[in-house]
Amino acid sequence: MKVLVADDEPLSLLYLQAALEEWGYEVITAANGNEACEILLGADAPMLAIIDWMMPGMDGIDVCRVVRESVRDRYVYMIMLTGKSETEFIVEAMNAGADDFISKPFNIDEMQVRVRAGRRIAELEQKLRMKASHDALTGLYNRGTIIEILQKELTRHQRNKHSFAIIFGDLDHFKRINDEFGHLAGDAVLREAAGRISSVLRPYDSLGRYGGEEVLIVLPGCDANEAIEIAERVRLVVCSKPVATDVGDVPASLSMGVAVIAQGQQVSFNALIHLADAALYIAKDKGRNRVELAI
Ligand code: GH3
Ligand code: MG
Ligand code: MG
Repeated sequence: MKVLVADDEPLSLLYLQAALEEWGYEVITAANGNEACEILLGADAPMLAIIDWMMPGMDGIDVCRVVRESVRDRYVYMIMLTGKSETEFIVEAMNAGADDFISKPFNIDEMQVRVRAGRRIAELEQKLRMKASHDALTGLYNRGTIIEILQKELTRHQRNKHSFAIIFGDLDHFKRINDEFGHLAGDAVLREAAGRISSVLRPYDSLGRYGGEEVLIVLPGCDANEAIEIAERVRLVVCSKPVATDVGDVPASLSMGVAVIAQGQQVSFNALIHLADAALYIAKDKGRNRVELAI
């Protein structure tokens, strides 16, 4: 696991880095609070941080505050390190968002067990968040999360007026697949379809399991042509080859309804979902394994 150590004193930093590396952690160092903040707010940031209180520029308290306020999609476990040991300072650090507090000079064995406890909590937090936001069968975002993402995208659209699109997809004759091949094979088809759909989306698109065999895809910055192109790619990859399951090869296909919000257009959440759903219904009606654009 990655750990950030932030300390303006090079010797302290080296000492802690050597100990952490010996305990098996991958250490990232920061020589001041600003650097620490940049790392903790950046991509692929550590989940565990040991932060010295007294640093030039942003101090440890500032770092804790900023991280707690800005990082919402994951948990960073922060241990405050300081020469101060009075209760009032511990309270101040914890109020700023620190999870733990160690006074300098610290005992190295105590540091090891505290870091281990922090690691356990950070990992548990991550697991809980994953469970709460993702679907267990497919690994996609669950219904609550994809709806939240769509709502955020709608709010963003109201501000910057870019066009964006959604795709509502539904596996064809899925009941028949379950009836013919069994529920477990049905599950395997769902999982495989989810993986195939993900593989053709852009990094900034979001894909969620909306219901049983229904997916919702949010495509930021897409106009109708681009959205249809992506939906066609999705359609082709799902039906390109049958899904290999324990009970044999199972052919699968996906029907999709595409709804686009043009620049500056005002559409409510419900209206947008309804548009895509109606287009999906037409795709089903016209024979399935096809893409229809909402009008
Ligand atoms: P259509 O082409 O019109 O969409 O037909 P369909 O059979 O796919 O649609 P219908 O809504 O009648 O059936 C959906 C089926 O999906 C019924 C339900 O048992 C199945 N299903 C929903 N969730 C799961 C799941 O997690 N695993 C499996 N194996 N089946 C599921
Ligand atoms: Mg279906
Ligand atoms: Mg359905």
